[in-house]
Parts: sequence; structure tokens; C-alpha cells
Amino acid sequence: MTEFDINNIGLKVGLEIHQQLDTKKKLFCDCTPIDDDEFSRKFSRRLRAAKSELGKIDPAALFESTKSKTIIYYANPKSSCLVEEDEEPPHALDTDAKNLALLISSSLESKIFSEIHVMRKTVIDGSNTTGFQRTMLVAQGGHIEVDGKKVGVQSICLEEDAGKLIKDEENHRFFSLDRLGVPLIEIALDPVEGDPKFVKDIALTLGRLLRVTKRVMRGIGSIRQDVNISIEGGGIIEVKGVQQLDQLEKIIEFEAKRQHGLKLIADRINQTKFTEINQKEDIFDITEVMKECNSKIIKKSIEKQERIFGIRIKKLKGIFGFEPYSDIRLGKEIGQLVRFFGIGGVFHSDELPNYGIENVDIKRVTEKLNIDDDAFLIIAGEKISVGFAIDSIINRIKLAKNGPPAETRAATQNGDTIFLRPRPGASRMYPETDIPTVKVSDKELAEARSNIPKSWEESIRELKEKYQINNQLAEQIFDSEYFGIFEKICSKKQNSPNFVVSILCSTITNLERSGLDSSLLNDEQITNTFELLEQEKINKESIQIIFEQIMSKKANNVLQALENASITQLTEDELDKILDSIIQNNVDKIKQEQMRALSGLMGLAMKEVRGKASGKIINQKLKEKIQGFLN
Ligand SMILES: [Zn+2]
Repeated sequence: MTEFDINNIGLKVGLEIHQQLDTKKKLFCDCTPIDDDEFSRKFSRRLRAAKSELGKIDPAALFESTKSKTIIYYANPKSSCLVEEDEEPPHALDTDAKNLALLISSSLESKIFSEIHVMRKTVIDGSNTTGFQRTMLVAQGGHIEVDGKKVGVQSICLEEDAGKLIKDEENHRFFSLDRLGVPLIEIALDPVEGDPKFVKDIALTLGRLLRVTKRVMRGIGSIRQDVNISIEGGGIIEVKGVQQLDQLEKIIEFEAKRQHGLKLIADRINQTKFTEINQKEDIFDITEVMKECNSKIIKKSIEKQERIFGIRIKKLKGIFGFEPYSDIRLGKEIGQLVRFFGIGGVFHSDELPNYGIENVDIKRVTEKLNIDDDAFLIIAGEKISVGFAIDSIINRIKLAKNGPPAETRAATQNGDTIFLRPRPGASRMYPETDIPTVKVSDKELAEARSNIPKSWEESIRELKEKYQINNQLAEQIFDSEYFGIFEKICSKKQNSPNFVVSILCSTITNLERSGLDSSLLNDEQITNTFELLEQEKINKESIQIIFEQIMSKKANNVLQALENASITQLTEDELDKILDSIIQNNVDKIKQEQMRALSGLMGLAMKEVRGKASGKIINQKLKEKIQGFLN
């Protein structure tokens, strides 16, 4: 295997950030953008995709157009109306969202257009009831300064968010409409020479620039990054759906290596006499030949009366299994590609015998395909899908001579990427005829310029002063999804800001790391909990217990959590009784260890009365009681 050097491959990375704006209304109707999980309305649409809207005809796009899926939409009247259902034309553009877009554009020194045209961008996955997403170019140019360097802004668009995918089944796809139409600002930056850490810093800086407006949504899913990654001589690969900054860095590193690996594979291919796969001569129906095969996938296919095909790839023996870097192989790329067509089974000659395909099967296939120093693929599946998949494989192997082809990939949680679809053509935009051109007046421009918020550094400085917290805590809370709620809780001055930050940042994160789900804990539950603390109905230690109950689904609300964990405050008498009995049971220990026994007894006491009395008081009482005993 080759040593990989990320600095030597002409890596270029362009970031595109999508951030939800925090407005009272959706972009083109009066609905409130709220998260719902209760839906009283349900309706369905058939998904159709006109060929002309798919851009360039490629096998994948053609295949998509043959799939007929029914899309089921779930709606709640609180968060969606007839506009989301596409039963009523869109209302006028929300001025609040417009002004925010102007404000953000101004703070990036981007040139704002005096007229904004609303466009329709074709969406073929059903995530929008209309079949398109409304988007408008607000500004172009400008820059952001990151680590002392200027990074150019390409464009700033205001657009509507899509419906939220609930689940995807064979013939049905389910979306909820609460998120549909929520205003998004899309900022596309100039590509930079790739240093993954620098790109992460760019995303962080841009995220902070947006957060200082205090008008953007926070939390997982409210800011999403798409990244365009390429290396010298390769196509541009768009990676969609990066939600976390650490993930971003890993994905760039992975993609750089994958793309360079594909380039090395291309070099290998170009040393062979491979020309191309001939649709007529190199594709063989091998269903009969595979009848005796013991592979589970092959057997299942035959049972379902599907066809099995062999594809001969002349002169490419050894190329599919060639692994320039760990786990980067052409064979793997092909495997991911066919999954797009709903096909789970493709085997290449370099990995056989394996997966139940034995030497005797290989012999039969090589005879049938007349294999010499050639490679072959075995693919099984339902007839139409296999046809498209084979076309797509032929196409992909042809492109392999040129290194990584342009495509759209999805980010995975662990920092890899997987094939999503080929890159769509550029012809997917057309004018929205239901909404007149939006004018931007000089007055609105001046207003936006005069309202540019303080810098992030300044905001942090202010935060430190206002709440008397240190730099680290100020940065932590400002970047977190709980900043709004922090300010709300601390406005009452009864709670120590230091303590509130540690609960909102450390405690919740720790519970999450232990496998609990922080998305179950909502803002109202957090404020309720702190209110109980203010009223001295619970103590500090109880907060974690309440959050634990809610984040583990054991309780739906704070009251239930209190009940479940039997969090009631002990009276002083009750506490004394418990502590006295602990002393009684540990007489020998105290005699032996004297005051050092305190920490052990404290542990015992906390186990018994956790959440029912403050740790500070327990400690104080125990100390007195041990001292009393020793005297
Ligand atoms: Zn609506």
C-alpha cells in the first residue's frame, strides 16, 4: 500500500452552509416553524419525475424516473397550512426572513441585488409537496476572514427548507411537513486549497458569524454543510448532509484518500489494454450456469425468478481488488453503485471464491464468458433494475480511467461517505410564476448595514462580563444549542451562570455520551427544572436525575421524572435519622479512620438520599456527626 500525503494531491474544498433562520413565520405562509411529532393530517401524492427535469439523461436518473413511489405526508395544522399542501398559492415573502438575509449578506460584505427573483429548483425525492424548492439569490461576492485569511463568498441564497424524511420503504416514502417552508440561508464559499482543519475553522467561523445575529436556529439539523471536494484531475464530488464539525474534518480526509486512491486505480487501468465494455458482446445471461451455486444471494434470486448476468471486463484482471489505500477499491465503488438500483448482490472476480460462490461456479462462469486475463462481475436482481445497473456499471468503469468521477455522496456518522447519486445537471432551475419579483430598497439596505451585529469575539467578551464566567464557558455556551435558554434562565439572577452552563453543556453532553438522547429533552422541560430549583422544591443534584429520566424515555415530563425518582426533599429530621443510622452502622470504621471516614460515609449517604437533600448539607451534617461521635 502507498503512503498517503494529503498535501500533495491538489485537494480543493468548497463549503456550502444551510442554516435555518429563527423567524416567527415560514418563508411563504403564516405558519409557525415548530417541531412536531403529532400529526392529525395525512395525505398522499404520487411521485412523478419528468425526464426534462432530470437534466442530463444518465442511467441513474432514468431509473429514478421509472420508480413509482407514493409519498405520504404528515401534517399538523399548527405548523402547516394549505400552502405546504400545495392547495393554495404561496403568500408574499416573509419580510423578517428577507431582512435577516440582507443583514447576513451585509455582514459578509456581499453585494446585494436590488431585485430578488424567486426561482423553483426541481426536487425529485418527494421532500417537497410541489416537486420543487423555492430559492432566491440575494447577494454575491464578499468574504469571511478565517485564521487571518480571506475566504471568498460565492453566493447567498434564501430558500425554503424541505419536508423531514420519516421513513423510506419499497413503494412508499414518508415526510412530515413541519419543517417544510422554514426559511434557510444558503451560503456558498469559494473553494480553498485543502487543509481539513482550515475548512473546519471556516465552518466554525461562519457558524459563529450567523449565531451572533441571535436569529438563527440552533441544535442538530438546524445547520447543515454540503462540501464540494476534488483533487487535481478529478471530478467534483459533492458530499451532502454534514451536521457536525468534527465529522467535517474526517470526511474531507476520507474523500481525499478515496479520490486519490481512485486516481491510482486509474493509472493502473491505463497501463492495461482495456478499452471499454461492449454492451452486446460482454454481457451474458448466466442464470442457467449459476443454477447449482450455493451462494445465498444467488439462490434467492433464482427462487424469485430473477436473472443473473455475467459482465466480462477485458484485460482488467486484478483491478477490482486492487487496494491502493486501505478499503479503497473499484470493487467497493461498484458495490455501492448497484445498491442505488436496489441490488444487493454484485460479485467481482478478484474477490472470488467467496460468499458461497465456489471454484466450480467460477469455472463454469469463466468458460461461459470465455475469460482470459479478464475480470468479470456477477450481478443478480430484478430484470429492469439489473438492466439499469449494468448500464450504470459500464458507464462507471469507463469513467474509472479518468479517476474519481463527479457524483453526489452522503456523509456517514463515522466520517466516511457513500454513493448517493450521479451529479444532477445544471438545468434544474426555472422561474416561480406565483410570486412577483421582490425589490430591495435603499432604506432596507441601509438598515441592514447599520444593524450588523458585533463580532463573535466581542460577543464572547460581553458574555463573560455580563455573567462573570470564564472564556471557555462563554465560548461553550455561545456555540451550544442552549444559548437562548441559558440567557432566559440566568435573567432571573437566582441561578449561578457557572452552574447553569455546566448543566447545559457538561451534564447533558455526559448523559448523551452514556447513550441517552438529548433530543427528548426540550426547552420547556429545562426551564421547568430550573424553576423548581429556584423555588427550592428540588436541589442541584436532582437536575441530573430529572434529565436522565427524560433523556432515557422513562419520563415524559418533569413531574413524572420527579415521581419516578421519588425526588422529594427530606425534612431535616428525616435526614438526621438516615445519617445517624449510617454512623451507627459504621462505628468501627470511624474509630479506625477518624475524620478520614468522612468520604466513605458521604458515598454511602449519597447513595441513599441522592436528589432528596443537597450534597453540601449532607457533607456538613456528616462532618458534625463524626466529630460529635469522636468527641
Ligand atoms: Zn403554512
